[in-house]
Amino acid sequence: MSATAPWFDLPQRGALVRTSSHTARSSDGPCVVVGAGLAGCSMAYALALKGQTVVVIDSASTIASGASSNPCGIVKPIVTREPSAAALFYEHAYGCLQSWLTHPCIKKNAAYENCGVLQLVQNSYPASKQYQQLDPIEATKKAGTAINARALFFENAGWLNPHAFCASLLEHNNIELRLNCRLQNLIPCEPGWQLDCLQANQQTTLRSSMVILANGTQLNKSPYTQALPLTLARGQISEFQLTQTVGREPERFKQSLSNHAMSNKPLANQALSNQPFSSQQLKDKQRLNCVVSGKRYAIPGKQSVYIGASFKRDDDTNDIKHDEHQENAEAVNDLLPELELTKQARRGFAGVRTTTPDRLPVCGPAPDFDFFQNAYTELRHGSKHKTFSPAKTHKHLYLLGGLGSRGIITAPYCAHLISEWLCTAADPIGIHTHRIQTLQSTMALLHPARFLIRELKRGSGL
Ligand SMILES: Cc1cc2nc3c(=O)[nH]c(=O)nc-3n(C[C@H](O)[C@H](O)[C@H](O)COP(=O)(O)OP(=O)(O)OC[C@H]3O[C@@H](n4cnc5c(N)ncnc54)[C@H](O)[C@@H]3O)c2cc1C
Repeated sequence: MSATAPWFDLPQRGALVRTSSHTARSSDGPCVVVGAGLAGCSMAYALALKGQTVVVIDSASTIASGASSNPCGIVKPIVTREPSAAALFYEHAYGCLQSWLTHPCIKKNAAYENCGVLQLVQNSYPASKQYQQLDPIEATKKAGTAINARALFFENAGWLNPHAFCASLLEHNNIELRLNCRLQNLIPCEPGWQLDCLQANQQTTLRSSMVILANGTQLNKSPYTQALPLTLARGQISEFQLTQTVGREPERFKQSLSNHAMSNKPLANQALSNQPFSSQQLKDKQRLNCVVSGKRYAIPGKQSVYIGASFKRDDDTNDIKHDEHQENAEAVNDLLPELELTKQARRGFAGVRTTTPDRLPVCGPAPDFDFFQNAYTELRHGSKHKTFSPAKTHKHLYLLGGLGSRGIITAPYCAHLISEWLCTAADPIGIHTHRIQTLQSTMALLHPARFLIRELKRGSGL
C-alpha cells in the first residue's frame, strides 16, 4: 500500500540494484550526475557509497564554481519552535551531514571548523539537546566579543569551505569527474538516457542508465523540468579585517545590559549581578571565537571576519557590489557592536542561490508534468471521492536542487534519500516497511511535483 497520495508515488525502488536477473551490462553505463556543486558532489558520493560508479560532469573549469563557490558557509542545525515535518527533515539532514563529516577522507579534507555557532534570538526556544540557551553575558563569553541578545549556542556546529567539502566528496574511487563538459541535450534511450555534451569545444555523447540533474540555477532549463517554479536570489559575502587595536570599553554593551535590568524582563538562566564582566577580558586583543548568526552572520577567519549574506531575489548577477559590502558592514555593527573592523571590505564573493516557494529542496524523480496536469486536474474538487492514477515520472531521471540558502545542510541528506531509493532492493517480505515508508513520506515533502499539485488543488495549473 502506498504511504503517500498517488501523485507522490515513486518509481519502482531499487532501479540500480544488480540482481541475478539484472546483471550489469556495459551498455547501462555509469550513473551521470550533472553539476559539481554541493548537490552534485553529494549525489555522486552517496551513490558511490552504495557501490555505484558515477561520472560527474560540469560545464565550468573547476568544481564548486556556482553558488557553492562561497568561501565559507554555516554548519548549524535549523531549528524551529514548533515540531513539523520540515523540522524533522532538517534534523535528519543535519545528522547526515555530521555523519559524513566523520568519514575519514571528508574529515581530513573538508576544512570543517567546529568552533560552535551562536544564533541570536528574541524569545526563548523549547529545551533541546541540540543547543544551550544563553543570556547576553553568557553569549558574550562564548563569542569573545559583546553580544546584546539572547542566543542559542550550538556546540556541535561551525562552518566549512564548500569547495573543500565538494573536493573531499569527489575523492571517492568510484567517481570520475569531467570538467568543461556542458550538457546540451538529454534524449531518452534504452536503458536510460543519451547525454549530448560539449566538452572542450568537442561534441561528445554519454549514455547512462540513470541521470541526476543537480545543475543549480539551470535545473529548470530542460524540457523535462521547465515547470519547476524556481527563483534565483543573489547573495554576497564580504570579508573585513579585524583592526589590531586593543578592545575599548564596551559602552553600548553595558548600556544594553542596564536597559535589560531596567525593563524588568528577566534574562534567561542567570542573575546579572552574579556575573560581572571581567575588565581584563575587555582589554584582550579583539577576536571572534565562533560563528554568530542573526539576520546576517559573522564567520571568524584569520584576523578577519566574513559577513554574509545579502539576499536579492530575482537577481542572477554575481559581480561584487559596493552597496552590498555596505549592507554587510552595517549588519555586523548590529550583530557584533564592539568588533572593530576595517572600513573597506578586503574582498567579496557573490553567488546565485536557487530557491523554491516553500524553501525546501527539490529532491526526487522528474515528474512528467503534462501527465500530472491532465491526471490530477480534478484535485480542485477535492481528493476524497475520486480515484486517481498513480504518478508518471520520466524513467531514470532524478532531480536534486533548489537548495536555497541551506545547501550545505541539506544536500548530503537529499543525496542520501535518492541513493537509498535507487539502491535498496524491493523487498517483498516487507522487512524494511517502516524504513521505506519514512523514506517515501520524506520524499513526498521534497517531491518536485509538489508545487504543481498545490496549484491544481487551488484550481490553477501550469
Ligand atoms: C552568498 C551565499 C552564502 C551562502 N551561505 C550558506 C550557508 O552559510 N550555509 C548553507 O547551508 N548554504 C549557504 N549557501 C547556499 C549554498 O551555497 C547553496 O545552496 C549550494 O551551493 C547550491 O549548490 P548546488 O550544487 O545546487 O548549485 P551550484 O553550486 O550552483 O552548482 C551547480 C553546478 O551545475 C553546473 N551546471 C549548470 N548547468 C550545467 C550544464 N548544462 N552542464 C554541466 N554542468 C552544469 C554549474 O557549473 C555548477 O557548478 C549560500 C549561498 C550563497 C550564494
